[in-house]
Amino acid sequence: RIVYLNGEFLPFDEARVPIMDRGFLFADGIYEVSAILGGRLVDNAAHVARLDRSLGEIGIRNPHDAAEWERLQTELMSRNGVTEGLVYMQVTRGVAERDFAFPPADTAPTVMMFTQAKTVAANPLAEKGARVVTVEDLRWKRRDIKSVALLAQVLAKQQAVEAGVSEAWMVEDGAITEGSSSTAFIIRGRTVVTRPLSTALLPGITRASVLRLAAEADLAIEERLIPVAEALEATEAFYTSASAFVMPVIEIDGRRIGDGVPGPLTRRLRELYLDIARAG
Ligand code: PMP
Repeated sequence: RIVYLNGEFLPFDEARVPIMDRGFLFADGIYEVSAILGGRLVDNAAHVARLDRSLGEIGIRNPHDAAEWERLQTELMSRNGVTEGLVYMQVTRGVAERDFAFPPADTAPTVMMFTQAKTVAANPLAEKGARVVTVEDLRWKRRDIKSVALLAQVLAKQQAVEAGVSEAWMVEDGAITEGSSSTAFIIRGRTVVTRPLSTALLPGITRASVLRLAAEADLAIEERLIPVAEALEATEAFYTSASAFVMPVIEIDGRRIGDGVPGPLTRRLRELYLDIARAG
């Protein structure tokens, strides 16, 4: 397995990061994940643009322009022979003596990428439908930044695992913010509902594409808060992410959603998304 670290393609075992890396000490870094399907990157321009935006928001210099990122991603995919799966990118503020404040301006960011071969399209969970639990949203106030500080999401996902379900939907002031690693949606009739973008949640790349597909499929869209009580009464529910695409939800907190099987509009949106993903 070959990974990318600071300008080099290296065997996994040879890629080492110093203990003073600010990603390790402070979670002072940004990441992105793009899916690979049929040898192509999915929605990648938007992921690379969000990486640039996240880095800018915390004042880390983006070491590569968009074309260079894509060139590196593509080379890593081909070196590993991955045609379906994920490519992970991470940039931290680099290696420096431990101090909360930014290191000297000439400190080089640490840049790392790896691929994971994985079945993302023919996912059995998407056929069966996922179950989710709601958990308290314990995060900070800049969730629009895709930071590697993911402790609250780690704890949320662990609660899901311990409850024997696939995802945790985080709740703040009685409304669903988003999944631990996904965007939450419900459907009522022919209306797709999801939370509006703000600093309270990550602007999901899959979210944006799915909203566009929903509008093209003549579904109504409401971007507003979703109270948990309303989600429990939804006719359908699903979540989106680069790795899950459109994942049907069949149960929330032990309450069956709709008929307890993936809903027809959700299945349609998944098919539409897979079509554009395959088309590159
Ligand atoms: N919200 C959170 C908190 C996430 O971690 C993710 C996955 N990175 C998403 C939403 C979904 O975003 P995307 O569709 O861009 O993968």
